[in-house]
Amino acid sequence: MQRKTALQLTLAVLLLNVGILLSPRLFQRQMPPLRVVFLDVGQGDSCVIQTPKGQVMVVDTGNRSLTGQDDMGRRVVAPYLRSLGVQRIDLLLLTHPDSDHIGGAISLLEQFPVGILESNGQDTRPLQNEVVQQAKQRYVTLHHAAKGEDIELDGVRVQVLAPLSNDTQEPTNSHSIVLRLTYGESSLLLTGDAERDEEAHILQSGNLTPTQLLKVGHHGSLTSTTEAFLSRVAPRIAVISVGKHNRYGHPHPQIMERLKRHEVQVFRTDTQGAITCTSDTKGWKCEPYTRLPQ
Ligand SMILES: [Zn+2]
Ligand SMILES: [Zn+2]
Repeated sequence: MQRKTALQLTLAVLLLNVGILLSPRLFQRQMPPLRVVFLDVGQGDSCVIQTPKGQVMVVDTGNRSLTGQDDMGRRVVAPYLRSLGVQRIDLLLLTHPDSDHIGGAISLLEQFPVGILESNGQDTRPLQNEVVQQAKQRYVTLHHAAKGEDIELDGVRVQVLAPLSNDTQEPTNSHSIVLRLTYGESSLLLTGDAERDEEAHILQSGNLTPTQLLKVGHHGSLTSTTEAFLSRVAPRIAVISVGKHNRYGHPHPQIMERLKRHEVQVFRTDTQGAITCTSDTKGWKCEPYTRLPQ
Protein backbone atom coordinates (compact mmCIF):
# COMPACT_ATOMS: atom_id res chain seq x y z
CA MET A 1 0.00 0.00 0.00
CA GLN A 2 2.80 2.40 1.03
CA ARG A 3 4.81 1.46 -2.06
CA LYS A 4 1.83 2.29 -4.23
CA THR A 5 1.51 5.73 -2.61
CA ALA A 6 5.23 6.39 -3.08
CA LEU A 7 4.93 5.41 -6.73
CA GLN A 8 1.96 7.71 -7.23
CA LEU A 9 3.89 10.55 -5.61
CA THR A 10 6.93 9.95 -7.83
CA LEU A 11 4.68 9.93 -10.88
CA ALA A 12 2.98 13.14 -9.81
CA VAL A 13 6.33 14.89 -9.26
CA LEU A 14 7.52 13.64 -12.65
CA LEU A 15 4.42 14.92 -14.40
CA LEU A 16 4.74 18.24 -12.65
CA ASN A 17 8.36 18.54 -13.86
CA VAL A 18 7.34 17.69 -17.41
CA GLY A 19 4.60 20.31 -17.12
CA ILE A 20 7.09 22.93 -15.96
CA LEU A 21 9.50 22.04 -18.76
CA LEU A 22 6.81 22.12 -21.42
CA SER A 23 5.01 25.19 -20.26
CA PRO A 24 6.96 27.39 -17.88
CA ARG A 25 4.51 30.27 -18.28
CA LEU A 26 1.76 28.09 -16.84
CA PHE A 27 3.40 28.33 -13.47
CA GLN A 28 4.11 32.03 -13.48
CA ARG A 29 1.58 34.09 -11.61
CA GLN A 30 -0.26 36.10 -14.25
CA MET A 31 -1.89 39.19 -12.89
CA PRO A 32 -4.99 40.53 -14.66
CA PRO A 33 -4.24 43.84 -16.36
CA LEU A 34 -5.00 47.38 -15.32
CA ARG A 35 -6.27 49.22 -18.38
CA VAL A 36 -6.09 52.98 -18.86
CA VAL A 37 -7.45 54.63 -22.01
CA PHE A 38 -6.87 58.29 -22.84
CA LEU A 39 -9.77 59.00 -25.17
CA ASP A 40 -9.59 61.37 -28.12
CA VAL A 41 -12.05 64.04 -27.00
CA GLY A 42 -10.48 66.87 -29.02
CA GLN A 43 -9.27 69.76 -26.84
CA GLY A 44 -9.93 68.35 -23.37
CA ASP A 45 -9.30 65.33 -21.16
CA SER A 46 -11.06 62.05 -20.57
CA CYS A 47 -9.47 58.93 -19.22
CA VAL A 48 -11.20 55.57 -18.61
CA ILE A 49 -9.62 53.22 -16.09
CA GLN A 50 -10.66 49.58 -15.70
CA THR A 51 -9.31 47.84 -12.62
CA PRO A 52 -8.13 44.22 -12.82
CA LYS A 53 -11.54 43.05 -11.55
CA GLY A 54 -13.50 45.32 -13.89
CA GLN A 55 -14.39 48.33 -11.75
CA VAL A 56 -14.68 51.44 -13.88
CA MET A 57 -13.29 54.84 -13.05
CA VAL A 58 -13.71 57.79 -15.43
CA VAL A 59 -11.41 60.77 -14.89
CA ASP A 60 -12.82 63.82 -16.73
CA THR A 61 -15.33 63.70 -19.55
CA GLY A 62 -14.24 66.01 -22.37
CA ASN A 63 -15.95 69.20 -23.50
CA ARG A 64 -19.49 70.27 -24.27
CA SER A 65 -20.09 73.27 -26.52
CA LEU A 66 -22.07 76.19 -25.11
CA THR A 67 -25.10 75.22 -27.19
CA GLY A 68 -24.81 71.71 -25.77
CA GLN A 69 -24.75 70.25 -29.26
CA ASP A 70 -21.17 69.04 -29.34
CA ASP A 71 -20.95 66.89 -26.23
CA MET A 72 -17.94 64.57 -25.85
CA GLY A 73 -19.67 62.63 -23.09
CA ARG A 74 -22.47 61.69 -25.44
CA ARG A 75 -20.38 61.47 -28.62
CA VAL A 76 -17.21 59.71 -27.39
CA VAL A 77 -17.09 58.59 -23.73
CA ALA A 78 -20.53 56.92 -23.45
CA PRO A 79 -20.27 54.99 -26.75
CA TYR A 80 -16.77 53.86 -25.77
CA LEU A 81 -17.98 52.60 -22.36
CA ARG A 82 -20.87 50.78 -24.04
CA SER A 83 -18.47 49.18 -26.53
CA LEU A 84 -16.68 47.67 -23.51
CA GLY A 85 -19.95 46.36 -22.13
CA VAL A 86 -19.73 48.74 -19.18
CA GLN A 87 -23.08 49.24 -17.45
CA ARG A 88 -22.01 51.29 -14.47
CA ILE A 89 -19.37 53.90 -13.62
CA ASP A 90 -18.11 53.13 -10.13
CA LEU A 91 -16.21 56.40 -9.75
CA LEU A 92 -16.62 59.54 -11.85
CA LEU A 93 -13.83 61.93 -10.95
CA LEU A 94 -13.76 65.51 -12.23
CA THR A 95 -10.33 67.08 -11.81
CA HIS A 96 -11.56 70.70 -11.99
CA PRO A 97 -14.66 72.55 -13.23
CA ASP A 98 -13.47 73.71 -16.69
CA SER A 99 -15.79 72.67 -19.50
CA ASP A 100 -13.08 70.77 -21.44
CA HIS A 101 -12.93 68.41 -18.43
CA ILE A 102 -16.49 68.23 -17.13
CA GLY A 103 -18.58 69.15 -20.19
CA GLY A 104 -19.58 65.54 -20.87
CA ALA A 105 -20.40 64.69 -17.23
CA ILE A 106 -24.15 65.37 -17.43
CA SER A 107 -24.55 63.01 -20.39
CA LEU A 108 -22.68 60.29 -18.51
CA LEU A 109 -24.89 60.79 -15.43
CA GLU A 110 -27.95 60.51 -17.69
CA GLN A 111 -26.74 57.36 -19.39
CA PHE A 112 -25.01 55.35 -16.63
CA PRO A 113 -25.59 54.66 -12.95
CA VAL A 114 -22.69 56.32 -11.12
CA GLY A 115 -21.46 55.12 -7.72
CA ILE A 116 -19.47 58.13 -6.53
CA LEU A 117 -18.94 61.58 -8.04
CA GLU A 118 -15.67 63.03 -6.82
CA SER A 119 -14.91 66.70 -7.42
CA ASN A 120 -12.30 69.22 -6.36
CA GLY A 121 -14.80 71.09 -4.18
CA GLN A 122 -15.34 74.06 -6.51
CA ASP A 123 -19.01 73.14 -6.74
CA THR A 124 -20.32 76.71 -6.91
CA ARG A 125 -18.84 77.21 -10.40
CA PRO A 126 -21.82 77.25 -12.80
CA LEU A 127 -21.11 74.14 -14.89
CA GLN A 128 -19.93 72.09 -11.92
CA ASN A 129 -23.01 73.18 -9.98
CA GLU A 130 -25.17 71.88 -12.82
CA VAL A 131 -23.33 68.54 -12.72
CA VAL A 132 -23.63 68.29 -8.93
CA GLN A 133 -27.38 69.05 -9.03
CA GLN A 134 -27.85 66.37 -11.67
CA ALA A 135 -25.90 63.89 -9.51
CA LYS A 136 -27.98 64.77 -6.42
CA GLN A 137 -31.21 64.11 -8.32
CA ARG A 138 -29.87 60.66 -9.11
CA TYR A 139 -28.80 59.95 -5.50
CA VAL A 140 -25.14 59.68 -6.50
CA THR A 141 -22.74 59.82 -3.55
CA LEU A 142 -20.83 63.12 -3.68
CA HIS A 143 -17.30 63.43 -2.42
CA HIS A 144 -14.68 66.17 -2.38
CA ALA A 145 -11.15 64.90 -3.02
CA ALA A 146 -8.82 65.58 -0.13
CA LYS A 147 -5.05 65.58 -0.17
CA GLY A 148 -3.64 62.51 1.51
CA GLU A 149 -6.60 60.36 0.48
CA ASP A 150 -5.25 56.90 -0.19
CA ILE A 151 -7.58 54.13 -1.31
CA GLU A 152 -7.16 50.67 -2.79
CA LEU A 153 -9.33 49.47 -5.62
CA ASP A 154 -8.82 45.83 -6.71
CA GLY A 155 -5.12 45.98 -5.88
CA VAL A 156 -4.68 49.42 -7.46
CA ARG A 157 -3.54 52.12 -5.06
CA VAL A 158 -5.03 55.56 -5.73
CA GLN A 159 -3.43 58.50 -3.92
CA VAL A 160 -4.73 62.07 -4.05
CA LEU A 161 -1.70 64.40 -4.18
CA ALA A 162 -3.66 67.63 -4.78
CA PRO A 163 -5.44 70.02 -4.45
CA LEU A 164 -3.33 70.90 -1.46
CA SER A 165 -5.22 73.99 -0.37
CA ASN A 166 -8.77 74.25 0.97
CA ASP A 167 -9.23 77.54 -0.86
CA THR A 168 -11.95 76.73 -3.39
CA GLN A 169 -11.73 80.32 -4.69
CA GLU A 170 -8.31 79.77 -6.26
CA PRO A 171 -8.14 79.47 -10.10
CA THR A 172 -9.68 76.22 -11.35
CA ASN A 173 -6.51 74.85 -13.00
CA SER A 174 -4.47 75.41 -9.83
CA HIS A 175 -7.09 73.50 -7.84
CA SER A 176 -6.95 70.40 -10.11
CA ILE A 177 -7.15 67.00 -8.47
CA VAL A 178 -3.83 65.24 -9.06
CA LEU A 179 -3.83 61.45 -8.72
CA ARG A 180 -1.07 58.89 -8.50
CA LEU A 181 -2.02 55.29 -9.23
CA THR A 182 0.18 52.30 -8.55
CA TYR A 183 -0.37 48.71 -9.54
CA GLY A 184 2.53 46.50 -8.46
CA GLU A 185 5.63 48.18 -9.86
CA SER A 186 3.73 50.27 -12.42
CA SER A 187 2.69 53.82 -11.73
CA LEU A 188 0.65 56.58 -13.35
CA LEU A 189 0.28 60.30 -12.64
CA LEU A 190 -2.89 62.13 -13.70
CA THR A 191 -2.43 65.87 -13.41
CA GLY A 192 -5.60 67.50 -14.77
CA ASP A 193 -4.64 71.06 -15.73
CA ALA A 194 -2.24 71.57 -12.80
CA GLU A 195 0.04 74.51 -13.50
CA ARG A 196 3.49 75.40 -12.20
CA ASP A 197 2.25 76.76 -8.84
CA GLU A 198 0.41 73.53 -8.04
CA GLU A 199 3.34 71.44 -9.34
CA ALA A 200 5.64 73.39 -6.99
CA HIS A 201 3.30 72.74 -4.04
CA ILE A 202 3.22 69.03 -4.82
CA LEU A 203 7.03 68.96 -5.01
CA GLN A 204 7.24 70.78 -1.65
CA SER A 205 4.83 68.31 -0.06
CA GLY A 206 7.40 65.56 -0.63
CA ASN A 207 4.73 63.03 -1.62
CA LEU A 208 5.70 62.75 -5.25
CA THR A 209 7.92 59.87 -6.26
CA PRO A 210 9.11 58.89 -9.77
CA THR A 211 6.22 57.72 -11.93
CA GLN A 212 6.45 55.69 -15.13
CA LEU A 213 3.48 57.08 -17.04
CA LEU A 214 2.55 60.78 -17.01
CA LYS A 215 -0.60 62.43 -18.35
CA VAL A 216 1.02 65.76 -19.21
CA GLY A 217 -0.54 68.68 -17.34
CA HIS A 218 -2.82 71.21 -19.09
CA HIS A 219 -2.59 69.68 -22.58
CA GLY A 220 1.13 70.43 -22.87
CA SER A 221 0.78 74.14 -22.08
CA LEU A 222 3.92 76.12 -21.20
CA THR A 223 2.28 76.90 -17.84
CA SER A 224 2.86 73.29 -16.73
CA THR A 225 5.45 70.47 -16.74
CA THR A 226 8.29 72.53 -15.30
CA GLU A 227 11.84 71.24 -15.47
CA ALA A 228 11.79 70.55 -11.71
CA PHE A 229 8.49 68.69 -11.86
CA LEU A 230 9.54 66.59 -14.86
CA SER A 231 12.87 65.76 -13.21
CA ARG A 232 11.08 64.49 -10.09
CA VAL A 233 8.45 62.49 -11.98
CA ALA A 234 11.04 61.11 -14.43
CA PRO A 235 8.43 59.36 -16.57
CA ARG A 236 9.27 56.82 -19.25
CA ILE A 237 6.06 57.50 -21.19
CA ALA A 238 3.90 60.64 -21.46
CA VAL A 239 0.44 61.11 -22.94
CA ILE A 240 -0.75 64.52 -24.14
CA SER A 241 -4.52 64.87 -24.43
CA VAL A 242 -5.03 67.68 -26.91
CA GLY A 243 -7.21 68.81 -29.84
CA LYS A 244 -6.03 69.02 -33.43
CA HIS A 245 -5.21 72.62 -34.50
CA ASN A 246 -6.38 73.96 -31.13
CA ARG A 247 -6.37 77.73 -30.71
CA TYR A 248 -4.09 77.65 -27.64
CA GLY A 249 -1.09 76.24 -29.50
CA HIS A 250 -0.98 73.19 -27.20
CA PRO A 251 1.28 71.37 -26.81
CA HIS A 252 3.92 74.08 -26.59
CA PRO A 253 7.12 73.36 -28.59
CA GLN A 254 9.23 74.01 -25.46
CA ILE A 255 7.34 71.31 -23.57
CA MET A 256 7.82 68.87 -26.46
CA GLU A 257 11.52 69.74 -26.45
CA ARG A 258 11.69 69.27 -22.66
CA LEU A 259 10.09 65.83 -22.89
CA LYS A 260 12.48 64.87 -25.67
CA ARG A 261 15.48 65.97 -23.62
CA HIS A 262 14.27 63.78 -20.78
CA GLU A 263 13.99 60.89 -23.27
CA VAL A 264 10.30 60.41 -22.67
CA GLN A 265 8.27 58.48 -25.22
CA VAL A 266 5.34 60.77 -26.09
CA PHE A 267 1.86 59.81 -27.29
CA ARG A 268 -0.69 62.44 -28.41
CA THR A 269 -4.41 62.08 -28.88
CA ASP A 270 -4.58 64.72 -31.66
CA THR A 271 -2.34 62.82 -34.03
CA GLN A 272 -2.72 59.24 -32.77
CA GLY A 273 -6.30 59.03 -31.48
CA ALA A 274 -7.09 57.21 -28.24
CA ILE A 275 -4.07 55.87 -26.38
CA THR A 276 -4.55 52.55 -24.58
CA CYS A 277 -2.08 51.68 -21.83
CA THR A 278 -2.11 48.36 -20.00
CA SER A 279 -0.10 47.14 -17.07
CA ASP A 280 0.43 43.63 -15.68
CA THR A 281 2.06 45.19 -12.55
CA LYS A 282 5.54 45.27 -14.11
CA GLY A 283 5.27 48.34 -16.37
CA TRP A 284 3.19 49.88 -19.15
CA LYS A 285 2.50 48.97 -22.72
CA CYS A 286 0.86 51.83 -24.62
CA GLU A 287 -0.80 51.49 -28.03
CA PRO A 288 -2.12 54.39 -30.09
CA TYR A 289 -5.34 53.97 -32.04
CA THR A 290 -3.56 55.26 -35.15
CA ARG A 291 0.06 54.59 -35.92
CA LEU A 292 2.06 57.54 -37.17
CA PRO A 293 3.77 57.06 -40.53
CA GLN A 294 7.42 56.14 -40.02
ZN1 LIG B 1 -8.07 71.54 -19.82
ZN1 LIG C 1 -8.59 73.79 -17.01
